[in-house]
Amino acid sequence: MAYYQSRPVAGRHFLQIPGPSNVPDRVLRAIGNASMDHRGEDFGKLGTEILTSLPKIFKTVGPVLIFPSSGTGAWEAALANTLSPGDAVLMARTGQFAMLWEDMARRLGLQPVMMDTDWRHGADPNAIAAELEKDKAHKIKAVCVVHCETSTGCITRIQDVRAVMDAAKHPALLVVDAISSLAAMDYRHDNWRVDVTVSGSQKAMMLPPGLSFNAVSEKALAASKTARLPRAYFDWQAMLEINRTGYFPYTPAIGLLYGLNEAIKMLLEEGLDNVFARHDRFGEACRRAASVWGLENNCLDPREFSASVTTLRTPDGHSANNLRAVIAEKFNMSLGTGLGVINDKAFRIGHLGDLNDLTLVGTLGGVEMGMAVAGMPHKAGGVQAALEYLAGNARAAA
Ligand code: PLP
Repeated sequence: MAYYQSRPVAGRHFLQIPGPSNVPDRVLRAIGNASMDHRGEDFGKLGTEILTSLPKIFKTVGPVLIFPSSGTGAWEAALANTLSPGDAVLMARTGQFAMLWEDMARRLGLQPVMMDTDWRHGADPNAIAAELEKDKAHKIKAVCVVHCETSTGCITRIQDVRAVMDAAKHPALLVVDAISSLAAMDYRHDNWRVDVTVSGSQKAMMLPPGLSFNAVSEKALAASKTARLPRAYFDWQAMLEINRTGYFPYTPAIGLLYGLNEAIKMLLEEGLDNVFARHDRFGEACRRAASVWGLENNCLDPREFSASVTTLRTPDGHSANNLRAVIAEKFNMSLGTGLGVINDKAFRIGHLGDLNDLTLVGTLGGVEMGMAVAGMPHKAGGVQAALEYLAGNARAAA
């Protein structure tokens, strides 16, 4: 049950926004444990356990730094530790979060070189190739892309971005925001030779908001030695130094770290490939339902469909915000709002983290009933299509 609700409602709230996501009971129970001495011997052991297991989720053998902040802090850490004032950074306006990151880069004194998109695709590897080709003097010091644009439901194909960077023989760092993709979609920090992966706790990592992460390559660490942007709280060196013994340079978010330890265990017990397959199935079930309803998927390229969030456009003249409000009131379910240029034109179904087939069916049921109540034109039967797909899929796996 939600901690705070202003009217009496029975049953569990359906939190189907694309993060914060639902926190499993096992993680909640871990978080509920008493604080411990963060300088004591046991904390060092716990810290070491977490710092050695977390990299498995990023598929890296290098370090992953943990900050007590939301994902925005990890964006800042990634830029501030690797870049210097006036550095050019190549970024793509793929959606709301990419644009917030651009704004941060400007405020930090960087010079973003921007590539526009229609908010219906990921960053275009060919456009990145063209920009890198033009940059003979290697002024661009980092290519910063959002893996899963949580606002649009489109992913950027990181392997293809890496390939064009290699083909151009460009030395820029590759910095990736994997905030809503980590632990939902296959992500390979080392194999894709990403230099900094930025992520956060409140999406498919199944924790409340409050922790953020930087996975860093050796190249990024080397860059941090000469980078001149000021940093203090988010300084990698201070953190890495003391992390070696399992401790943190300031009071860590102890409860969230208990939860993180438990969440990592759950992900590894399920097996990352199974976790990804589960999310893929949820994405496909949503799209099948939407296609029967006659709602258009905001993401246009099937290679770029997100497995953690589906952004659906509502018919012209029909308010997505009204639909969300009706669903919240009548069925006690929160769906993601359309952000930025698609505000009121789209809504988002979050299907990431701790959910199963029945959670998804309930979610889709809420959408279909909501459309009926709100008088939004649609064809009934989307939920049925999702049921058939999920049952067929389960049968095939049996
Ligand atoms: N990047 C992406 C892709 C996100 O989805 C979000 C938040 O939803 C952020 C960055 C910002 O993270 P936070 O709100 O945790 O600071």
